[in-house]
Amino acid sequence: MNLKEHIRVIPDFPQLGIRFKDITTLLNNGPVYKEVIDTLADHYRDKGIELVAGPEARGFVIGAPLAYALGIGFVPIRKSGKLPGETIEAGYDLEYGKDKLAVHKDSIRPGQRVLIADDLLATGGTISTTLNLIRQLGGEIAGAAFLIELSYLNGREKLDGIDVVSLVQY
Ligand code: IMP
Repeated sequence: MNLKEHIRVIPDFPQLGIRFKDITTLLNNGPVYKEVIDTLADHYRDKGIELVAGPEARGFVIGAPLAYALGIGFVPIRKSGKLPGETIEAGYDLEYGKDKLAVHKDSIRPGQRVLIADDLLATGGTISTTLNLIRQLGGEIAGAAFLIELSYLNGREKLDGIDVVSLVQY
């Protein structure tokens, strides 16, 4: 299956010069969405992974069904101020903008093997911040899974030593 055919590229969104990879067209197609999750689940099955963590919002769309398919828990990484319990936070720069991410302190126990998942790896800012939060809680990073990787932005370099899997590259 050629996944690229199902990803719509929208020029100049959310600002001039950005060619936005829109995955809503892929998500709209049940068999294609299922194939994405099943492919990732097959790769990570029987690897001793205990949790999947994904940053909002599109990290939930990949990470939560992946956790379900693996029969393990999901940890939501959210924008600052959204989680109701005790959190830790970390700031980061985006491909376009700045933000702060937070995680519940009690969502990961020290030593737990955590897979991080998001829809897209661009500069790696979002995922390094996610990594940073998980490591602060004592979690071990078991890998990083993406639907899309924008290879020309070299986000992988920020994930040194981590097994990075992406299904589609631009
Ligand atoms: P990074 O932090 O620069 O790696 O950017 C990755 C984050 O920005 C992911 O959470 C994506 O959801 C979002 N993002 C950046 N560029 C795009 C795009 O072209 N399409 C969809 N999401 C994007």
